[in-house]
Amino acid sequence: MIRQFELVERVQSYDPEADEDVLNRAYVYGLKKHGNQLRASGDPYFSHPVEVAGILAEMRLDTASIVTGLLHDTLEDTDATRDEIAGLFGENIARLVDGVTKLSRLEIQSESTKEAENLRKLVLAMSSDIRVLLVKLADRLHNMRTLRHIKEPARRKRIARETMDLYAPLASRIGMEKVKRELEELAFAELNPDGLASVEARLGYLRERGERLVPQIEAELIKTLKDGGLNAQIQGREKTPYSIWRKMQTKNVSFEQLADIMAFRILVDDVAQCYQALGLLHGRYQVLPQRFKDYISVPKPNGYRSLHTGVIGPLGQRIEIQIRTGEMQDQAERGVAAHWIYKQGGPSTDAPQYAWLRSLIDILDKAPNAEEFLEHTKLEMFQDQVFCFTPKGKLIALPRGATPIDFAYAVHSQVGDTCVGSKINGRMLPLRTQLANGDQVEIVTSRAQTPSPTWERFVVTGKAKAAIRRFIRMRQREQYIQLGKSLLDKTFHEEGYEATEKGLDGVRANFKQTTTDDLVAAVGAGLVGAREVLTAVYPGLKQPRPGSRGGGADVVPISRARSKAGKAGEGGRAAKEAGQIAIRGLIPGMAVHFARCCHPLPGDRIVGIITTGKGVTIHTIDCATLESFSEAPERWIDVGWDSVGEGAATAYTGRLKITVANQPGSLSSLSTVIARHEGNISNLRIVNRSMDFFDMVIDVEVADVKHLADITAALRATPAINAVERARN
Ligand code: MN
Repeated sequence: MIRQFELVERVQSYDPEADEDVLNRAYVYGLKKHGNQLRASGDPYFSHPVEVAGILAEMRLDTASIVTGLLHDTLEDTDATRDEIAGLFGENIARLVDGVTKLSRLEIQSESTKEAENLRKLVLAMSSDIRVLLVKLADRLHNMRTLRHIKEPARRKRIARETMDLYAPLASRIGMEKVKRELEELAFAELNPDGLASVEARLGYLRERGERLVPQIEAELIKTLKDGGLNAQIQGREKTPYSIWRKMQTKNVSFEQLADIMAFRILVDDVAQCYQALGLLHGRYQVLPQRFKDYISVPKPNGYRSLHTGVIGPLGQRIEIQIRTGEMQDQAERGVAAHWIYKQGGPSTDAPQYAWLRSLIDILDKAPNAEEFLEHTKLEMFQDQVFCFTPKGKLIALPRGATPIDFAYAVHSQVGDTCVGSKINGRMLPLRTQLANGDQVEIVTSRAQTPSPTWERFVVTGKAKAAIRRFIRMRQREQYIQLGKSLLDKTFHEEGYEATEKGLDGVRANFKQTTTDDLVAAVGAGLVGAREVLTAVYPGLKQPRPGSRGGGADVVPISRARSKAGKAGEGGRAAKEAGQIAIRGLIPGMAVHFARCCHPLPGDRIVGIITTGKGVTIHTIDCATLESFSEAPERWIDVGWDSVGEGAATAYTGRLKITVANQPGSLSSLSTVIARHEGNISNLRIVNRSMDFFDMVIDVEVADVKHLADITAALRATPAINAVERARN
């Protein structure tokens, strides 16, 4: 615990005129009021307000802020009253302490009250005197530093979540990057220990590799500047785990280079030297496109100023460089506190960078309620985030560019998985709509819905992306299992066996599979042949099976389906002893059928459709039936005819629709023409008979599409035949 004289010395070190007396009195008063209260850690309670005051002293704030830090919990947790504090320390301090207390009360109630209202009050309190917010941030920072002492995990999580969603962005908005970073890192450690561990492991590895590089790069950069007549300081600064994590989440990148973990910062004396240093570096090293940013000419809204650039550095490494003055550095770290006027009195919100704060106060004065406040301000103080609300008023913080799907997943994975539509501010809008600050979002769900792979293209949060990918992987696995099952059943049945769980379990280790499901999925995915599994279970069986050419795995002869005679009458496949067909793009051992709707012939452009329990059905690419599978692209497989099969004595069924004149001899000339062109009529059906014409459908066995085209042409040339076309459906 910081002792009384230490605190006073710290304040006096940057503010020699600080009121020593009021600091001492506040310290003694707080100590007495908190008495023997203890913190969760077992420390005396007063150690907390003292540490908060210490953080405020580190920010180099005025005496009133330090005193407020010392007293900030007395109204809430002790018998102290506002009047008593006003009497002892003045109305100004009493107002500040009261403001912080009110903020803390809101925090406690935040589960029961509307968060929109909380946020409004928070901003209102902050705006009336920004020191209230600074003390609150210091309070939160110390609570986060000691978060591990809280026993209930749910409470730790809630505090960490609130810190991440609200206090870190607020700190950033007022330019206090140092506080923001620490809040984020502490919250990240609580919210995602696994993520932190994985980033740190990787950091450790890269750090080790960069250990020798960093001092070398620093020396080279200094030399480059010195050769150009510029004396500068340089610091290699490691990026924080959370900032790396967030970049990996939003940009879907891994980090593997020094530039991903280190930034080099060059400190010079004035603005002119900033540009001079930039010129020297750009003249010496290759500049990385689109990395240059001039925040000196155009400062960030929170007042941040600096030059950023990226170059291929001295050792051929991609490096990021920030160039700034000491004053800019101070501003970057301490934000609003950097401009503090060390006087009692009002906040220094006159500086141009606090215009936003003044306009907020304006709006707050005019807006009668929380909803209207949100509508007016659109919470524009948060630059990289959007704050949206559930219909019940729960606040959901999302990165900019987030969609209703991100929102749905942020609410609950179940909501994300089943979301079908979204009402934004009461209007039904597409799921790809980008959400804006203050939007009220209602997610419409349906139990029949599942995540669509296309969502992945427009969601921005890691949570939504991960959930969608997980789902796609899971569904793919289910399909592989189904397909694998049917392949195994078919293969085993052909030899008169059953593919039993027990049999598969006995051989799964042979294929390096952990479970039988894994083995079945591997068969479905084409990684393991069904036949291999069969011969593993029944080692007596020969492999390869008869008729196999044993070629590449993607060219597979498949015994042709045999039609029963009865089916031929319905236009089934020819009742002729099977030859072989070969189709490219199939999984080994997969069952294949030709669609009866379009009768594909070699030479036709074709696609395969996976049919559960039946293997693959081949359709011509222009078959109308395919429309019914347009919503299930995952069932489509790209197939083609194996050219080896060309010219073989294999017969395929082509179907023709023919109109013949109703006159003697016309049917015999039809059959003669077909026979002369080596076709074989396997089925003939008259569908319509009139006085003058027969409409009929005939199935002709042909070698391929060209063969059928020859026959078609010959028929068209026959006088008794009026019309010939290939039948579709
Ligand atoms: Mn506190």
